[in-house]
Amino acid sequence: MQLVTIVTKKQDGPIDPRPEFQGGLNWFEERVIRNRERILAPYGLTDNFVRMSPNHEDEIAVVDEESLERWRGKLLAGRPEVDALVTNLPNIGLECLPADCGVYAIFHEELGWLGMAHAGREGSIVKVLEKTIRRMAELSGTKMEIFIKGLKIWMAPAICGKHYLKEYIEIPKKDLEEWKPFILGEKEIVDAGENYKIKAKDKSIGIDFVGFNCQQLLNCGLKSEQLDLSEVCTFESEDYFSSYRDKIAEVVQGRFMVMVMMKP
Ligand SMILES: [Zn+2]
Repeated sequence: MQLVTIVTKKQDGPIDPRPEFQGGLNWFEERVIRNRERILAPYGLTDNFVRMSPNHEDEIAVVDEESLERWRGKLLAGRPEVDALVTNLPNIGLECLPADCGVYAIFHEELGWLGMAHAGREGSIVKVLEKTIRRMAELSGTKMEIFIKGLKIWMAPAICGKHYLKEYIEIPKKDLEEWKPFILGEKEIVDAGENYKIKAKDKSIGIDFVGFNCQQLLNCGLKSEQLDLSEVCTFESEDYFSSYRDKIAEVVQGRFMVMVMMKP
């Protein structure tokens, strides 16, 4: 099996970049549909894809022959409401429209398994990436330690820790030491019952969830040469949509599309 990744820039128009068409209905715009077809047809993916509707949680959906019938080609209604998709079907695109969050492809060439996980701040806190890998190992009938040896992990552009600024982040108590190196700036730690609240001492802290996830992968036993993570920051690059940037500045919006598939 071979991994194919497709990342459009927002200028490619998988969603209409005109501000008045922000929201969901723009998917029915003819121009948008035409652009998608133009991009996907050469890969044979025009209708052969499953597009997730992410919730910033840790639910995982398995795309098999049966669920594919329900989800195939759905742009809006009828999509699986999950943050991860996994499949062993070749020639099927797994799709997500990110807006600063990390979108990961998890690929096992030899066993023929492909996953897509959507992990921003919330998804990283609930460790959706690691959970997806564990689920894939289970489905393939392989022990996690063995499974990870054959993996390749790829990530599309996402916001960096320097630019993703928040007043605080709340994390499970047991994960404090894991998170500490990836919370940038002067911070204080406040007891919040089951969680710790890591708060900015001054105005804001930077949350490097991409770095956190990378470290999680290494902790699982992956080697850095198995990782292919984009260094492009969606906040810095005008080519990608950044919900964080576009909320604080009046700029032309428009999403970008990330689709991955495996082919024999
Ligand atoms: Zn940045």
